[in-house]
Amino acid sequence: PSFKELGVIDPLLQALEQMSYKVPTPIQVETLPPAFEGRDIIGVAATGSGKTAAFAIPILQKLWDTPQGLFACVLAPTRELAYQISQQFEALGSTIGVRCAVVVGGLDMQSQMVALAKKPHIVIATPGRLQDILENMKGFSLRNIKFLVRLSLLINQCVGIERCFQVLDEADRLLDLDFGPVIDKLLKILPTSRTTYLFSATMTTKVAKLQRASLSNPVRLQV
Ligand code: AMP
Repeated sequence: PSFKELGVIDPLLQALEQMSYKVPTPIQVETLPPAFEGRDIIGVAATGSGKTAAFAIPILQKLWDTPQGLFACVLAPTRELAYQISQQFEALGSTIGVRCAVVVGGLDMQSQMVALAKKPHIVIATPGRLQDILENMKGFSLRNIKFLVRLSLLINQCVGIERCFQVLDEADRLLDLDFGPVIDKLLKILPTSRTTYLFSATMTTKVAKLQRASLSNPVRLQV
């Protein structure tokens, strides 16, 4: 099917054309219909499969329907990924005027707070810095977000409940240790009425455990 046949609205079709995304990738074909229905989604798809657009398009489409303040929070495991995601949101949402802010560690927190004060629609963050900002910036809250996206190299890491080390390399282990408790804390302050998308490169834990990852009756997709 084409993007149009999957239900993508005209302004986003225009952006897709500008970006030369001619046909949807398999993960996009799988994700878009249930996402447009408002379902929570757990997707397992390799790096490079097009999963960023798979979750960005439904979020932008909903934003177009109901424009309002802070709309979505995307949690990324690394800074580089956070910037790549932001670039894709900006390109895909260029025709609807989307505003993004990137909030990642290792860079000046003050300028990130200035960016957040400008009321972006989408915040793309690494969990540690987001936590810092939530604790230190008056007037900034995630209480009204409509979407949470959690990206991970490993599904365990974004679920944040079970630790499963045997298949992880050093870098993944560090991420897992760092982010588990922070993500648990974040989840407590987010509205329960949100839509949640969880995408991972590999599935390393029993699917049953994902039920506890604060998703509601999610659609599970694997490509
Ligand atoms: P991702 O898996 O989200 O990191 O995407 C991998 C790359 O594929 C990115 O450079 C995207 O710009 C590109 N991409 C995503 N969807 C499409 C599509 N439908 N057609 C062509 N390129 C795409």
